[in-house]
Amino acid sequence: CGIVGAVSTRNIVPILVQGLQRLEYRGYDSCGVAVHAADPSGAGTRLQRLRGIARVADLAAQADSQHLTGQTGIAHTRWATHGVPAVGNAHPHVSRGPVPEGMAGGEAAARPARVTLVHNGIIENHEALRAELLARGYFFASQTDTEVIVHLIDSLYDGDLLAAVQAAVRRLRGSYSLAVLHRDEPQRIVGAREGSPLVLGIGADGKENFLASDAMALAGVTDQIVYLEEGDVADVQLGKHWIFDRAGQRAQRPVRTVQAMS
Ligand code: GLU
Repeated sequence: CGIVGAVSTRNIVPILVQGLQRLEYRGYDSCGVAVHAADPSGAGTRLQRLRGIARVADLAAQADSQHLTGQTGIAHTRWATHGVPAVGNAHPHVSRGPVPEGMAGGEAAARPARVTLVHNGIIENHEALRAELLARGYFFASQTDTEVIVHLIDSLYDGDLLAAVQAAVRRLRGSYSLAVLHRDEPQRIVGAREGSPLVLGIGADGKENFLASDAMALAGVTDQIVYLEEGDVADVQLGKHWIFDRAGQRAQRPVRTVQAMS
């Protein structure tokens, strides 16, 4: 239903939460946020995720009380199409990789997330993809069509999230806008769209960039908006971005100044 993402040098949790609040009027049944947070051990980052079936305001309160902070992250309001409204079906969804033979379920579920994703739309070939991914050892934690995308990207990942998303979307049938994070690339979000809107927001000081399903989610954050076209994949990094068309060619899309909205 609603997507917001941000790559910055400042804490973006308030931007993600306010973005979701600006999209609330569309309706939703659950919501969630995931950020690359500084690891308490001081070694790099680790993914922190919060999800709930209550209002965005409750998610915000939870983020506050847990001191959730991070400089790269994605957030979602869900309007369930596949799988009942429940915390376990709320986005972001994660892939921890295929479960090694002999590993216990609890141990497998405690592994860190490798790929994290939010999705708007419907994946029509989710059953065939799920069967294929189950056969390759992936464990499904939800009833959503969305979860096939995150495991598919994990299965295609070879050190470059952009390449993995480009390969994955070629296998999807249906409609989607996506925002995807990878554990090993903490200052990058890859977005993609087909049949569902997604915009890129260019940060005012040239140091941060955003993704959203609607420019309105970024009101007060930036008014410099690039509307992605059908089949586009966007590589969003700190102060730089690239857009690729369906054929994988670099594409130039105009930056538009949208009118300030209150
Ligand atoms: N089909 C996905 C789900 O049911 C995404 C729904 C949405 O667009 O919010 O989880």
